[in-house]
Amino acid sequence: MDRIIMHIDVNSAFLSWSSLKLLSEGSNIDLRNEIAVVSGKEESRHGIVVASSIPAKKIGIKSPMNLRDARRIYKDLIVTHADKEYYKKCSNNMMKLIKYLFPKYEQYSIDECFVDYTEMKKLYGDEVKFAHKLKDEIYKRFGFTVNVGIGNNKLLAKMASDFEKPNKVHTLYKSEIKEKMWPLKVGDLFMAGKAASMKLNELGINTIGDLANYDQNKLIKVLKNQGKMLYEYANGIDDSPVINRYDDRKGIGFSKTLEEDTIEKNVIYNNLRNFSNRISLELKKRNLYASTLVVTIRYSSFKTYNHQIKFENNTNLEEEIFNLSKIAFNKLWNFEPIRLIGLRVTDISSNNDIQLSLFDENNKVLKDKEIDKLIDSINKEFGTGTVFKGFKNIDSN
Ligand SMILES: [Mg+2]
Repeated sequence: MDRIIMHIDVNSAFLSWSSLKLLSEGSNIDLRNEIAVVSGKEESRHGIVVASSIPAKKIGIKSPMNLRDARRIYKDLIVTHADKEYYKKCSNNMMKLIKYLFPKYEQYSIDECFVDYTEMKKLYGDEVKFAHKLKDEIYKRFGFTVNVGIGNNKLLAKMASDFEKPNKVHTLYKSEIKEKMWPLKVGDLFMAGKAASMKLNELGINTIGDLANYDQNKLIKVLKNQGKMLYEYANGIDDSPVINRYDDRKGIGFSKTLEEDTIEKNVIYNNLRNFSNRISLELKKRNLYASTLVVTIRYSSFKTYNHQIKFENNTNLEEEIFNLSKIAFNKLWNFEPIRLIGLRVTDISSNNDIQLSLFDENNKVLKDKEIDKLIDSINKEFGTGTVFKGFKNIDSN
């Protein structure tokens, strides 16, 4: 039986919530109807747009744009500052309601969650009707609007909630993939970041449909593990369950027993690169960040050693994982022949802390480049939450 999954996503969450706060304080302007943005602290030179209203988006003002550029587009731009305590309250209110209604529930970020409706259908009836009731109930109780996407897995539900906004319910069942998802630009596909989209465009792949019908082996050659994954997503394939990953404290990692014992650094680095790539994808899919990395070496003597290092900032970026893994490896290795190499990240957390740390002026994360990367990952990449692998051995692959 096909599953029924819903993705519930607050429309312009930070902007809506700031607007509600101002209204509750007696303001008579609803920012949601104005050309308005939420920004970090403006006095630091990092005044950047972290959320924009739908009217602002329509004229091209979006995150992560700096305020100067945003004002160049519209000089009377209304700017308000983030209030993370208030945001948390709004988020908790909604999540509490969802948790109450659905036993299978997964918070994805501060303003998004998945629920598994499959079993609930007996109790609540038709999913589309219920989704309308749910979004209206959220609006009535809390004063902000959401989009609800319905599909047969998390990927499809997430793609569906991203269709026309605000305050809408959309379906994207497997049977609707061709009609509703394939005509979209390939960059609109979950996990297709800017870099990947550019590579795909170079291959002549412009729409999600082009990607779905491309030769998967060629994609794997160009984009490695990400190519395999994007091909599956373009075909609407995603078996990941709805799980509350906030309960999961395990790490994500891979190890490999080498074909023959080696003292070749390149062989080890190639493996660490591959592990870093896979770990990064797993983290990004679930919108998670790791703070610690562990490298494991087993020598031909079967003695096994670990070395653990903390990242400067929580990360899910392949390059940062790979670079630190090399450092850990070189600290650990005693130049004896290596039989097995492993890499794992632990102390994993959701993006909420990071998303909110954008507003913390003293946080090291506040570097332009890093902010771009972070906001990019927050906005463009969302999790489909496959089961945690723990320290999975990939010898069999
Ligand atoms: Mg949202």
